[in-house]
Amino acid sequence: MRKAYLPFSPPSIFREEIDEVIDTLSSDWITTGPKTKRFETEFRRLIGAEAALALNSCTAGLHLALVVLGVGNGDEVITTPMTFCATANVIEHVGACPLFVDVEPDTLNISPALIEQAITSKTRAILPVHYTGHPCEMDTIMEIAGRHDLVVIEDAAHALTASFNGKRVGNIADLTAFSFYATKNLTTAEGGMLTGSRKLIEKAKALSLHGMNRDAWRRYDKGGSWYYEVDAPGYKYNMTDIQASLGLQQLKRLDRFQERRREISAKYNEAFAQYPYFEIPVLRPYVKHAWHLYALRLNLETLKIDRDRFIEELTERNIGTSVHFIPLHLHPYYREKYGFKPTDYPVAYANFLRLISLPLYPRMSDQDVADVIEAVLDVAEMYRIGQ
Ligand SMILES: *Cc1c(COP(=O)(O)O)cnc(C)c1O
Repeated sequence: MRKAYLPFSPPSIFREEIDEVIDTLSSDWITTGPKTKRFETEFRRLIGAEAALALNSCTAGLHLALVVLGVGNGDEVITTPMTFCATANVIEHVGACPLFVDVEPDTLNISPALIEQAITSKTRAILPVHYTGHPCEMDTIMEIAGRHDLVVIEDAAHALTASFNGKRVGNIADLTAFSFYATKNLTTAEGGMLTGSRKLIEKAKALSLHGMNRDAWRRYDKGGSWYYEVDAPGYKYNMTDIQASLGLQQLKRLDRFQERRREISAKYNEAFAQYPYFEIPVLRPYVKHAWHLYALRLNLETLKIDRDRFIEELTERNIGTSVHFIPLHLHPYYREKYGFKPTDYPVAYANFLRLISLPLYPRMSDQDVADVIEAVLDVAEMYRIGQ
């Protein structure tokens, strides 16, 4: 058994990132400035989007997306319960209401058929989440949105480098928000990026810095002007050059990071596919998966223990894990406000009870991967029914 605890998802930060941060800290410009601008440009090219705006989180990006697309009081936004709370919280922030629809049983992504059924006269937007990095059915979702005159905002917190039918995530919907939180495929500690058309990103940009017009971040620079006007009561959502320093160096590693994520996921698949205890993640042939998470599902009818106990057994074997996600309709705020029962979203709920996210990050050694596999198999064999 492993001696040292294997954390679930530590960041993969190297000397170059640290040097770049020190370079910024030693300069006269530490907040939004030239490095943030460079990070936006390089990111936009990678995604193939018309424009990109660096922010202090993906949550900020989702919030701004709703604001600039005019989603507000009394509107409904269709989204998935199988996501992080930020996805629905921002809908509440703008005074709209989240209309959850259940997920597909295989990908656990929002079900396009159920989207169609849920649309009412108040529906304004669809907010799909590319769960674990496997893209949603974007062709169908965009087609439905077009037919009903809805806007589409992608929560791509998991989906950096993912693509659907050859189209890169970040260049499909009206606006797309990425996350650079510490656990994500690329990190700036905290951070996010919003991509979309030049026009929408310009609007979002003004709102991301108090609603000040012009390049207000340059107002202390020799090339800048002290004069600005406030066109709208904006937010404080800008990214700092310290964060962008991390981002610039992480971008250079992204291909290698992704290669390693694919490699580790393939090893897990190979190890677990042959056993009746597990359901391994699906991969539709026409998508490129970003492999942010490896979500293994337990076939509980083959085991004497439940998911929670399985996780405790893995912790005892020094393997860190997590669960993605506690479906949003189970959280007190949403449950009480909308009167949800767990089985209102039966697919999300049933799968929540059997999900375990295994460690998946570029810094994992082959030995780490082997240790995870060994521990998972050990627990399953020990508690299999008939044992
Ligand atoms: C991480 C995450 C977010 C929030 O990202 P932040 O950058 O922390 O705001 C939103 N949605 C999903 C699905 C996430 O996993």
